[in-house]
Amino acid sequence: MFLKEKRALVTGSTSGIGLAIARSLAGEGAQLVVNGFGEPDAIARIVEELSDASGMAASFVGADLSKRAGVEQMMAAAGEVDILVNNAGMQHVAPIEEFPVDKWDMVIALNLTAVFDAVRLAVPHMKRRNWGRIITTGSAHSLTASPFKAAYVSAKHGLAGLTKTLALELAETHITANMISPGYVWTPLVENQIPDTMAARGMTREQVINDVMLERQPSKRFVQPQDVAELALFLCREAAGNITGANYNIDGGWVAQ
Ligand code: NAD
Repeated sequence: MFLKEKRALVTGSTSGIGLAIARSLAGEGAQLVVNGFGEPDAIARIVEELSDASGMAASFVGADLSKRAGVEQMMAAAGEVDILVNNAGMQHVAPIEEFPVDKWDMVIALNLTAVFDAVRLAVPHMKRRNWGRIITTGSAHSLTASPFKAAYVSAKHGLAGLTKTLALELAETHITANMISPGYVWTPLVENQIPDTMAARGMTREQVINDVMLERQPSKRFVQPQDVAELALFLCREAAGNITGANYNIDGGWVAQ
């Protein structure tokens, strides 16, 4: 249990990739702060499971991170965190001329601005302890683009720049900042964008899965949330202490093309 004594906040950890990362960190003894939306009973079960796994009482902060006040409330409630996993994110799929401006604002606020706010509030404690891990869930869309995803691609490219900037600012401390960029991972976020993609491209569900999603992923297999979690766990190890400013793609070869 190499993360005993560490406190970890994983945003968007009630589902999908964030939940898998939270489970991995708890399995190594980290005390978890869970964030995200969901049914109270399901969240209570997650908190109980993570507490049992780590032996440290996990907690839940249900803040809406698309609002600056929500991020500030979360950071105040979470207390001093040693590991910050910026994972909460959303998608909206629409042609540029029809892209709803409120969806643009929301995607940029949640996927990009919330990370800036969480990091600026987490770093003072990490500096005091001279140890920290900032891990951000990017996307293959931090390195390449797809049509109809203007806000998401812009936000994820922005996160790539933010991660590199943090790495340089913090380089002489023992705080690292890295990004993990998955291709298509089978989670609710992916499942929920199928209807909009069907509408935007005039396709069936099977066509969207095979001809749009896995078409970009040469392995033809969805990444699993646990694959991302294993890499996040490695980035928390001391052996990863000199890895900073990196953007690791886990995408079945997508960005190799
Ligand atoms: P998911 O929908 O399963 O989980 C998203 C999480 O974020 C949930 O816990 C949800 O409650 C939370 N969330 C959503 N809006 C929020 C808000 N306003 N405030 C606080 N929490 C909020 O999605 P996922 O696929 O696990 O995605 C997690 C991250 O991985 C996202 O940043 C996403 O962009 C990224 N990603 C996913 C894929 C994929 O194929 N699934 C690929 C690349 C990157």
